[in-house]
Amino acid sequence: MNEKSFDLIKILNEGVKEYDMIIITDQNGKIELYNKVLSQLCNSANKDEILLHDVKINQLFSLVKNDFNSIFNSLEVNGQFYGQLNFSLSFNQKIPFDVKAYKVNGEANQNYRYLFMFKLKDITDIEIDPLEQKTFIKISDKSAQNKIDLITSYEELERLKENFLASVSHELRTPLASIIGFAETLKNDPDLPKDIYLEFLDIILNEGKRLAATINDLLDVSQLYKESINLQLKNVELQQLVTRAYEQFKPLAANINFGIQLIEKPLFVQADENKLQQAINNLVSNAIKFTPEGGKVSISLYEKDDNYIIEVSDTGYGIPEKDKEKIFDRFYRVERPGLEIRGVGLGLSITKKILDLHGYKLEFESEINKGSTFKILIPKKL
Ligand code: ADP
Repeated sequence: MNEKSFDLIKILNEGVKEYDMIIITDQNGKIELYNKVLSQLCNSANKDEILLHDVKINQLFSLVKNDFNSIFNSLEVNGQFYGQLNFSLSFNQKIPFDVKAYKVNGEANQNYRYLFMFKLKDITDIEIDPLEQKTFIKISDKSAQNKIDLITSYEELERLKENFLASVSHELRTPLASIIGFAETLKNDPDLPKDIYLEFLDIILNEGKRLAATINDLLDVSQLYKESINLQLKNVELQQLVTRAYEQFKPLAANINFGIQLIEKPLFVQADENKLQQAINNLVSNAIKFTPEGGKVSISLYEKDDNYIIEVSDTGYGIPEKDKEKIFDRFYRVERPGLEIRGVGLGLSITKKILDLHGYKLEFESEINKGSTFKILIPKKL
């Protein structure tokens, strides 16, 4: 084995946690393998993805200090290289990356290759990705084709950065601040009147529950986006799930007209009971949350053509046209200036993912200030 070459799989396994984009080239710098980030960058730069197989890495990147010859020299001599490269989106638009490159052994230790790992330079404030979704690599270890599948994109990173920091940190800090504040008050003033004392305890309890719910959502979404998730399928009766959602949310819907309509017979399907319940609950919770006092929310269960349908409709704020295609994205929230509605933007992405895993469809219609209707379509025979 060449002393100055490194083990591909080992470096990839480590590097993928830290780097956004991976490219493997042959000894001449010709691109052999790359991940989705590169294809997406190329798409947005209108560089034809198919052509990538015939291009050399130096055709896509411009250098900040060195030229490519010096990179390859350094790889030959030291086995590795650190530096900075710019990906050219267009003539005057460049994306800067820190790059770490290695000379790595190829199959049967005969040929070697170059491995380039890139880290976006301007995404400095996401240091730890809480959901491990920034980079996710799958390597089929049969080294012939080390298949790389990096489930992320430049755009998604940007969005994660903005939305995660804005909503999640807010949703974690706000309840914590109340819990600490009210607990301190209770401690410092033991003679508070009983009713105020109980009211403060209630706030602490509710904010604690909120915090737990947010943390659960974060954990759920990270779990659901892992590829290996297994559904615990069993015979599940839909009336029961729908009724449970209704009972659970009734206390929270005191100021709205909250109703349920059920089909008159039991409907059995093969499903993961807890997860399907969670998907339904999220829709009901949203309907209540986004409907002002005096409005109406109803849950119904019926059959139509080849499907059983669970429908959650409300007469609430509705969803603006421009947001409709994004509401299932992780951490996406509709901005509603003047309305302080809490949330982190995970409920619908969790719901959609659960339904996708089951092979069920989720449809919705919504009109601003009129309301929204979400429908889960469960095929009678899957
Ligand atoms: P969250 O409720 O935490 O904000 P979700 O992922 O559940 O996150 O929903 C994403 C966004 O979709 C919400 O911010 C909200 O604006 C919009 N939305 C979801 N359900 C409804 C609904 N029934 N009525 C109006 N807007 C809704």
